[in-house]
Amino acid sequence: MTQATLDFYNFSYSELVELLDKEFGATKFRANQMFEWVYRKGVTDFEQMTNIGRDLRERLSQRFVFPKARIHDRQISTDGTRKYLFEVEGGDLVEAVMIKQLKRMTLCVSSQVGCAMACSFCRTGTMGLKRSLSTSEILRQVNGVIEDAKNFGDSFSNIVFMGMGEPLHNYDGVTRAVRNLTNSIGYGMSPRKVTVSTSGLVPQMRKLAESGVAVSLAVSLNATTDETRTEVMPVNKRWPIKELLAAVKDFPVGPRKKVTIEYVMLGGLNDTDADMKRLVGLMRGLPVKVNLIPYNDNAGLGFNSPARDWVFTWQRYLNDHGIQAFIRWSKGADIAAACGQLATDSRKEPRPSRLPVLQEDGQQAAA
Ligand code: SAH
Ligand code: SF4
Repeated sequence: MTQATLDFYNFSYSELVELLDKEFGATKFRANQMFEWVYRKGVTDFEQMTNIGRDLRERLSQRFVFPKARIHDRQISTDGTRKYLFEVEGGDLVEAVMIKQLKRMTLCVSSQVGCAMACSFCRTGTMGLKRSLSTSEILRQVNGVIEDAKNFGDSFSNIVFMGMGEPLHNYDGVTRAVRNLTNSIGYGMSPRKVTVSTSGLVPQMRKLAESGVAVSLAVSLNATTDETRTEVMPVNKRWPIKELLAAVKDFPVGPRKKVTIEYVMLGGLNDTDADMKRLVGLMRGLPVKVNLIPYNDNAGLGFNSPARDWVFTWQRYLNDHGIQAFIRWSKGADIAAACGQLATDSRKEPRPSRLPVLQEDGQQAAA
């Protein structure tokens, strides 16, 4: 009887060690070699893994597959930002964005097809949740972008889980991907440069904190009162601001490291003078920095953008009160490349995107 094939990208290092031991009688050393070939050298052809014995290679090659990323579409903004539409299993489509910044690029990946959280200012939220992505489907976005970046002679230095979906609603798929991204014989990224953004699933935040998975955390606060937050983020009914910020306080951050608080400024709704002052109060004593994200006007979701000057006023006010604040202006506006505003459907042809754009890259603040 032939066994089903296994998708290599769905294995964490420790899971691979266990499988090799159980099924192949191979040691941990083989897992190291495989991780090095695949993630460090980009080699997926067992023939080339010459430091593994021929017999074992033969058996491994009958068992493992390495699905390739399928780029369905790619758009390039005049500002250098690139948006990729990936086809994953079953013809589902998800987006990933290479966000061009001054000195580096940040890769924003999707964790789900759609999103269950239904935030009223977010295009992905209007799709509902179709399903979570597997670890392989997440890593295929990374692999596809790495491969395509060769055409541009660039690369990314940071990865943020801020594309479609709520990453902590796909806890296993996402944390396993994070483990491989930050494994020194995997992609070898620093945990400081991998950020998971959540709308505030408190139990999963606590689980992540206790798991020992080193990763940076961003939390979408987006309001300063429970009333307003519940209005725009239904998740707040379940885990209100107080519980959310308590979980932020308990999240282990390394020295000189902070949790990012994201604040989408919805003109006239959550960006009043009183909000600005309340935000300072809420942030007091927390190990955080704030990313202000001006809402983009043309979402057609019934919200307004704040005036540019007002966004600067907020930033100044926060900074003056001892809270580090950054502004995330939109990138790739001409190609609708906004993380958090991405929407696709599962038909073969992507729906023409009339979405506004705005990006949030959650990059680590300039020191
Ligand atoms: N689901 C996760 C991560 C994806 S959303 C989360 O909500 O945190 C990434 C960011 O984009 C979040 O901070 C979200 O608040 C923000 N966002 C979503 N829609 C937006 C919009 N229309 N304008 C500005 N930011 C938006
Ligand atoms: Fe989902 Fe984040 Fe959009 Fe809310 S903002 S609907 S959690 S993707």
